[in-house]
Amino acid sequence: MNDIRKIIKNTIKSLTTQEIVATPVKYSKEFYKQAKELNLSIDELKEFEKIINSLNDEEKLFIRENNITTYYELTQVLLNRVSNKDLLRFIEQLDFYLTPSIDYSIENKIGELKEELISEPQKLIKNSTLNRIRKYTNERVSRDKIVVQEKAKDVKKVIGLMGKYFDKCLLQSNDTSKEVSMIKGELEALELSKHSARDLAMLQSKLVDTIHKLEHSIEESQAELFKGQKDCVFLQKQINKLQQDLNEVSREKDIDFLTGIPNRRAFVAEVDKIENEYEIFKSKYAIVFYDIDHFKTINDNYGHECGDTVLTTFATILKKLTREEDVICRYGGEEFVALIHYTEDNEVISYLKRVQNIISTNKFVHKDIKLKVKFCAGVVYRNKYNSYKEAINQADILLNKAKHEGRNKIIIDTGNYI
Ligand code: GH3
Ligand code: MG
Ligand code: MG
Repeated sequence: MNDIRKIIKNTIKSLTTQEIVATPVKYSKEFYKQAKELNLSIDELKEFEKIINSLNDEEKLFIRENNITTYYELTQVLLNRVSNKDLLRFIEQLDFYLTPSIDYSIENKIGELKEELISEPQKLIKNSTLNRIRKYTNERVSRDKIVVQEKAKDVKKVIGLMGKYFDKCLLQSNDTSKEVSMIKGELEALELSKHSARDLAMLQSKLVDTIHKLEHSIEESQAELFKGQKDCVFLQKQINKLQQDLNEVSREKDIDFLTGIPNRRAFVAEVDKIENEYEIFKSKYAIVFYDIDHFKTINDNYGHECGDTVLTTFATILKKLTREEDVICRYGGEEFVALIHYTEDNEVISYLKRVQNIISTNKFVHKDIKLKVKFCAGVVYRNKYNSYKEAINQADILLNKAKHEGRNKIIIDTGNYI
């Protein structure tokens, strides 16, 4: 009793000296301090020590660092504690957080931990427990990782085979059906990891089934294709032959079959080209209208065949004397037309003289018949007329003039005679 009095006396004295108002809290703090200093044994103090010892390490540290000496202050510390009820709510879910998604082999260990914690919830925040939870979490992550890797490998295998399969299907080679059944075999034999067994195995059998169906349709379509190919080869040969014939006909349609020089149809096309150049480039040209004199008499006297030879020989001479850029054609019967490009007028005169010279100095030969052939020509310079038509008409007029004036003449629209 005396001890208590002494503590009370010292407490009030100390509070007064420090000018602290003796509220219940401040009084009791000072009271416990004085009691400790006097090293006096008080039941309440012993009780307080006992409670402190039952706290966890973190709380003990906090109490030491903050000089907590009263029940009032202790209350504040304990208020920070999570209730067992709340901890249990978390512990009930523990296996959900820690068990790997597919591999359940650590389930037992987690079950044991959960049981331990249910019986002693506060153990949850102990370091040893936290370490165990960390260990299980790591294990969960690495086991999940393995499962994901294995599944990815399986999916890659299946996709690889499907890719191969579609390649073959699309290429449609002769060996397609054989290769497709090989791929089907590979797909059937594909070894999947035990983790994929649940989901991928179903996909695997569906794919095998689909390939099986496609195999049949490929076989059928290949048979059709093969037959179609044969028909195609046959048709292609026929097309080639027709194309050849067509090319020949198209060549022949422009060539006069007797003399081998371009006919009037080809000539019309050439006139279009040359007129175009004349319009654009003002490239000058002359029109020469030839007609063999008394050709009918040759036919009558020596026969049609001889007449043909004369026509062919006359055409050959004109062709030889016509340059690449000029045009010569059989206009009809024993009439020929030449289009001669020139720069100077006398280039045309030289050409006409060459023709006249060769025809007049040579004899045309048919078998043992040797003939002198004469001809007339009307010549115009295209640039003196408004149109090609006007020019060729004038050439025709000059040709007729030559006939009327006794034949064996070339009349030029300049009024000159050769
Ligand atoms: P001119 O001097 O007035 O030109 O008299 P010509 O006899 O040459 O002319 P005409 O128009 O009276 O006779 C042309 C003849 O040419 C008539 C025709 O039978 C003949 N003829 C036309 N084409 C051919 C042919 O391809 N071969 C042969 N051999 N004769 C043909
Ligand atoms: Mg004629
Ligand atoms: Mg004639």
